[in-house]
Amino acid sequence: MLKAEKLSYSYGTSFQLKSLNLKLSPGKICGIIGHSGSGKSTLLHLLAGLKEPEAGKILLQGEAILTPSKKLVPGHPQIKLVTQQNSLFPNISIKENIAYELRYYEKAYQDSRVRILAKQLNLKALLDKLPRELSGGEIQRVMIARALADEPLVLLLDEPMANLDRLHKKDVMLSLKKVVEEENIACAMVTHDILDAFGMADELLIFQKGKIIQRGTSEDIYFHPRTKYVAELMGEIFTMDDKAYFRSEDVIFNKEGVYRGKVLNNVFQGSYYEVLMEDENGRRFAGKSRDKKEGEVSFSLSSFIYFD
Ligand code: ADP
Ligand code: MG
Repeated sequence: MLKAEKLSYSYGTSFQLKSLNLKLSPGKICGIIGHSGSGKSTLLHLLAGLKEPEAGKILLQGEAILTPSKKLVPGHPQIKLVTQQNSLFPNISIKENIAYELRYYEKAYQDSRVRILAKQLNLKALLDKLPRELSGGEIQRVMIARALADEPLVLLLDEPMANLDRLHKKDVMLSLKKVVEEENIACAMVTHDILDAFGMADELLIFQKGKIIQRGTSEDIYFHPRTKYVAELMGEIFTMDDKAYFRSEDVIFNKEGVYRGKVLNNVFQGSYYEVLMEDENGRRFAGKSRDKKEGEVSFSLSSFIYFD
């Protein structure tokens, strides 16, 4: 559906996105993860036709999209970018905000399309309100509905849920995943929350300094991170010897364990305690336990992560 080939872009000498290849497929969400400044937003702007690539091309259904230098108004009508920024018109209702995207269609079609979107994104109760009467999460849902109004082929999301609490996030995530599948949209979603990516993405792309350094399913990358950078993006890792790394869930507390630690603290996490420990060399690490641990403990490790 949307394909980027050997895409390059730079801001002077300070940042380069180099020869990047990527493909977004209909009905699928591609999660994009990486440290701040690794080039995720730049990539989305390129894909949306809002920045001029220095090299390479972007193909939508096999056809090269027009880059800003070749257009009066940058952007592509079938590729929509949603950011954290609230760009709704403040003085018209939510319904009118969404319908504005459909202003060239007949009123009857506008109404029925708004009704469908309101149902998909759970906006029914909000339609007659003004943007300022909405919470941050509600605004995000409206922005996504508005982006979807004219049935785009591609939806690009730049940290759309960064300002939402867990509960509201789950809501938006579920609706979004459903719409993408139902309407067969090719979707890319930048997020800094790895749990969002795990919950939503069919494929993950890991970004570091303008490059995609690993791609695969969430499970692939979680269990087989190629570098320490990737492993740390997926969650905390620990080591006792700088070669073999492990995660807290790999720690199995038992009397015959070959490893030893002194318990520093038990952090209650609801379904388990995170047991913070240190070894005789002062290295800190953590394990998960249903019950509190105290003093000297021994444990074994169920699996390790190694890097090349
Ligand atoms: P991310 O979204 O992953 O945080 P960005 O794509 O926003 O990263 O930025 C990538 C790099 O480019 C960063 O180092 C950032 O400081 C730099 N950058 C972003 N926008 C500009 C700009 N308009 N001019 C110069 N440098 C920029
Ligand atoms: Mg960004």
